[in-house]
Amino acid sequence: MNHSLIDAWRSDFPILQTRIHDRPLVYLDNAATTQKPSAVIQSINDYYSTTNANVHRGVYSLSQQATDFFENTRETVRKFIGATSTSEIIFTKSATESINLVASSYGEVHFSSGDEIILTMMEHHANIIPWQEISKKKGCTIKVVPIQQDGTLDIETYKTLFTSKTKFVSMVWVSNAIGVENPISDFIRIAHDHNVPILIDASQRIQHANIDVQKEDCDFLVFSGHKVYGPSGTGILYGKKHLLEHMPLYQSGGDMIKKVTFEKTTFADLPSKFEAGTPNIEGFIGLGTALQYLQSIGLDEIAKHESMLMNYAIEALRSLDFISILGYNGTNVSAISFVMDTVHPHDIASILDKKGICVRAGHHCAHPLMQFYKVPSTTRISFAMYSTVDEIEACIKELKEIYTLFS
Ligand code: PMP
Repeated sequence: MNHSLIDAWRSDFPILQTRIHDRPLVYLDNAATTQKPSAVIQSINDYYSTTNANVHRGVYSLSQQATDFFENTRETVRKFIGATSTSEIIFTKSATESINLVASSYGEVHFSSGDEIILTMMEHHANIIPWQEISKKKGCTIKVVPIQQDGTLDIETYKTLFTSKTKFVSMVWVSNAIGVENPISDFIRIAHDHNVPILIDASQRIQHANIDVQKEDCDFLVFSGHKVYGPSGTGILYGKKHLLEHMPLYQSGGDMIKKVTFEKTTFADLPSKFEAGTPNIEGFIGLGTALQYLQSIGLDEIAKHESMLMNYAIEALRSLDFISILGYNGTNVSAISFVMDTVHPHDIASILDKKGICVRAGHHCAHPLMQFYKVPSTTRISFAMYSTVDEIEACIKELKEIYTLFS
């Protein structure tokens, strides 16, 4: 990959000039959150400096301009994921809230005692607990697609989990804990063969490659803005219109009504029906800018660069006999989890921090997956468009020193 191109991308991210413990920042925790380009930071600054007003309510031009900027993001998201209509794009505060919305609202009308929900062994807690909560309320059972040692989901067993009681499938596209990319087209087709709707958690996919919800035939798809170079506190729920239309309210209050009397309230159409209260206006304006920024660069270019980084890092880590990589099957996208003989992941992360290198140590909000691998935690390095081979080399060099130190 062209160095000057990556240098140009890097120059868009002011935080990359930061020093940590007097070392250049090496940020390899991009699966937790991505850094923000100047364009995003500037758009939030511009909004507060020139346009701040509440949305959807004012008849004055400042409010109308704020509303236009805010709603432009809905159109940007629609195009970004290939949805048919902006009424299918619901603004939430996070992927977590998007999943809670579907579990609670869809589940409220469609689940009943004895029904079954299918999840997979590699789900983030955000895609487990909301389903457990609605299951407790409705008396449903959760079934889990097993996983193989190399991180591949067992699709043959998945096929056998469906019964006449299966009401929903919810699964991750790319695992945050091990980086494996699941063949979701197959998983979706199989769910649809059984007339069962499916939610795709695209939190770790949206920032790495193009997405087309119509081509994939997703019923629901969720992601968080902060993982796609946008601000925190922004989340997206995509849902097919006919499904969203028949789902009851999730929250209620201002901005989601047609008419309110003390006797009766009528509710706004989609998407407002699911957007009670003043939203994160500046956040969504920033998210729109982030997605436009990515479109201007091209996700295909980013995917090429990140795949080169992944291959480089895998080869380098494999050459270290004191490192074991968890869940690598060749599909992995921008995240690698590993354990080092005799050294706890938290020690690794703390020592790397002293060298200016940020990596994640822990269970990655995936307890069941950690239980499967029989480890309490792992060290995870994860890449973004601005990551470099030099950064991976710097990390590998320090890992070797850590191992020498501990052995
Ligand atoms: N799903 C996956 C796969 C994730 O990686 C994350 C964040 N780590 C979430 C869901 C939840 O995202 P958030 O905390 O932004 O709601």
